[in-house]
Amino acid sequence: MSDSAKSEDPFVRMVSAKAEVDLRLSDFHPRSMLVTPQHEMRRPKFPVIDYHNHLDAQDPQEVLKVMDECGVERLVNITMYTGEKAFGIMDKFHSVDRRRFATYGWMDLSDVQSAGFFERSVERLERLVERGACGMKIWKDLGTKVRDQEGSLLRIDDQRLDPMYEKAAELGVPIMYHIADPDAFFLPIDARNERYEELAAHPEWSYYGSHYSKEELLAQRDRVIARHPKTTFVGAHVAEHPEDLAYVSRLLDKHPHLYVDIGARCAELGRQPYTAREFFLKHADRILFGTDLIPEVNMYRLHYRFLETSDQYFDYPSHASRQGRWNIYGLFLPDDVLRKVYRENALRLWR
Ligand SMILES: [Zn+2]
Repeated sequence: MSDSAKSEDPFVRMVSAKAEVDLRLSDFHPRSMLVTPQHEMRRPKFPVIDYHNHLDAQDPQEVLKVMDECGVERLVNITMYTGEKAFGIMDKFHSVDRRRFATYGWMDLSDVQSAGFFERSVERLERLVERGACGMKIWKDLGTKVRDQEGSLLRIDDQRLDPMYEKAAELGVPIMYHIADPDAFFLPIDARNERYEELAAHPEWSYYGSHYSKEELLAQRDRVIARHPKTTFVGAHVAEHPEDLAYVSRLLDKHPHLYVDIGARCAELGRQPYTAREFFLKHADRILFGTDLIPEVNMYRLHYRFLETSDQYFDYPSHASRQGRWNIYGLFLPDDVLRKVYRENALRLWR
């Protein structure tokens, strides 16, 4: 058959037809026609500790109402303030219910360029813990933005920070790392980027063209974790690499003093349910439930649906700009795994 005869063949024409249409991506909201079991999860099977949230702007009484309504026993507020303001936030929540609220401090990097910063960081951690913090978070501006007194980018694995990690071990409080971000944030914001809409809404989240690759940033972090076996570390957002759970799994195997939280990563985990389920079963003792989203009843319920049911192809909990154009699948985790991930692992780190 000649080429022209082929192109006139009805079957060939049918399978070769392509849509060339203009529809704004923001206006495209397809609804799934799948008919499969759906579970509305009003409460979790076991009490839950949300180990990763940010409540600075919230009213503790309102948060407690949400927690009561959907089975959240306790919550860790990671304050994004430093100094006196952080203590104020701590008091605001702890005075309402010290048993149900705990607080992570935020590493103060505002004065890296003044002499004595590294000694001050040790003292600040001590003061945070004295005032009732149960850990401290280090954010992604370390390694990418913050410059030291000499004007060089302060590396995550800079040895001048070592005494601070040793102090955390001595005080018995974990250090939480949020270093780097999803892989797609390191790529151009274009038609091939799987998180295009999210990055279009938050162009400041892009690392494209930045000084270090994601691999390099994670390698710096991993060196610190390896150097401080007595310090407990929490790798926020599945150690920032849920796209590659084999890597996170190796990291957890290598470092028994490392935990990971699942904050804001249901989308990543739920689109690879076979791999994610195995990951949860293998590392059940080291995964912490966390949400990193405004405390709302439906947000929590979506998490329970994801972790407890075998529902297929549903919306993931997310911020308004979403994380990518896909849906997720439930992991139907067994009870013993759920108990650990929901609560028992966090209780081990609670204070
Ligand atoms: Zn967070």
